[in-house]
Amino acid sequence: MSRKVIFYLVDGARPDVLYRLAKEGQLPNIQKYMIDEGSSTVGTTCFPSTTGPAYLPFLCGTFPGDHGITGIRWFDKAEFFRGRWGRNSMRSYCGYEAKYFDDDMDSKYPSLFETYDRGFNIYNMIVKGVKPENDLTKEGKSGLYLRAHYQHKHHAVDEKGHEKLMEALYKNPQFVYAVFPSVDWDSHCYHYEDDRTIEAYKIVDRSVGEVVNKLKEQGEYEDTLIVMASDHGLTSTHTHFDLGRFWKKAGYRVLEYPNIMKIRPQVAVFISGNSFGTVSFLDQKEMYVESLLEERHGKALDKFVQEPGVDFIVYRKSATDFIVRNENGKAEISVSGQTVRYTATTGNPFGIRDTDRYVDEKVAFTHCFDSDYPDGLWQVKQLMESPRSGDVVVSAAVGYDLRDFWEYPEHKGSHGSLHKDHIHIPVLVNQPDLLPEPIRSTRVYGMIRNWLDKNDTNHYV
Ligand SMILES: [Zn+2]
Repeated sequence: MSRKVIFYLVDGARPDVLYRLAKEGQLPNIQKYMIDEGSSTVGTTCFPSTTGPAYLPFLCGTFPGDHGITGIRWFDKAEFFRGRWGRNSMRSYCGYEAKYFDDDMDSKYPSLFETYDRGFNIYNMIVKGVKPENDLTKEGKSGLYLRAHYQHKHHAVDEKGHEKLMEALYKNPQFVYAVFPSVDWDSHCYHYEDDRTIEAYKIVDRSVGEVVNKLKEQGEYEDTLIVMASDHGLTSTHTHFDLGRFWKKAGYRVLEYPNIMKIRPQVAVFISGNSFGTVSFLDQKEMYVESLLEERHGKALDKFVQEPGVDFIVYRKSATDFIVRNENGKAEISVSGQTVRYTATTGNPFGIRDTDRYVDEKVAFTHCFDSDYPDGLWQVKQLMESPRSGDVVVSAAVGYDLRDFWEYPEHKGSHGSLHKDHIHIPVLVNQPDLLPEPIRSTRVYGMIRNWLDKNDTNHYV
């Protein structure tokens, strides 16, 4: 009997909500198979904690910065100066450019669909390597998604996804990646603990029950790893702080989606999530470093970090040293090869101890897991190493998002930031002892590869 992996991506599930519902007996199948008989932990997603880019660690074992996919929208300054209308000067996966996502992925990091022949996909937007006949929701997805959005009929999408998952079990899969989108949608539309959101968790729970029964009936349960995780948490939004408008008020001509035709723009503002943004200054083609940035744009930046909607910003001191700054001062994250160091200088935006020395990815992870910015050191590294992170990265304060208009329905929930409420994710498996401690989402990828081939230890951070 060949081994298989069934991956439930419960989009936007918060670990505290999921584990509380399970404890209360509202998710009996998850409680029994994934918590009591399996293993579970709290993990971390990536920065930005936004749908799409945050699937990459699960599917490829690498971070958004590794692929140059630094958000659901990004701006590439060097490409912009090479030719504004070039295909790679900017991107928004929200519209027709969604189809470029697969192409934009770095082929150095193949996805699980490229690694395994019998990979099946349900609703996930990253279909690189999925055989057309294995993309089980290709037909009808757009209609279902449109109805879900405009008529608020979210749950029909998850029910349909579950049907497709049951179908997949008859096709001898090695790997099924099934997205259940309603927890995210309901959380955005209502609240992350609204009754409708909780019902969305229950749909997933019932699906687990049916899948387990079917696998047992087929004699395949012992050889199957069921994984459940989310791509980000979510907080409720009380105030919209429009990033583009801030820079307009500061006297800049702003290039942003959907207004990308702006004549002689001075700053490019790109939002993801909606609690994550990048700002790129267009008065020089090189990436800015601290000294020159503060000399030329310091006044506006001083005001910017005072905004209650801005939690902290990050910019470069050099190619390998990054400044994290909030209204109270700065800290530095320095990178040396595959090690990082955190030093509070004029402030301590992450509220953590200095590392005193360069530490590897493991120590960096535990150093700040329990802080307000879990995995902050490594996440800043992976993001800022990509030029598509712009001159300045912005992480919104909890309760704020960075856009004011165009969203329909209006967003009452946000994610995308580096705050623990967005970064912490539930991670559960139906096999015991696999999750003795918290892990990054990239490790889930490694776990999947190890399950399918125990000799395969080829994975990344
Ligand atoms: Zn999501």
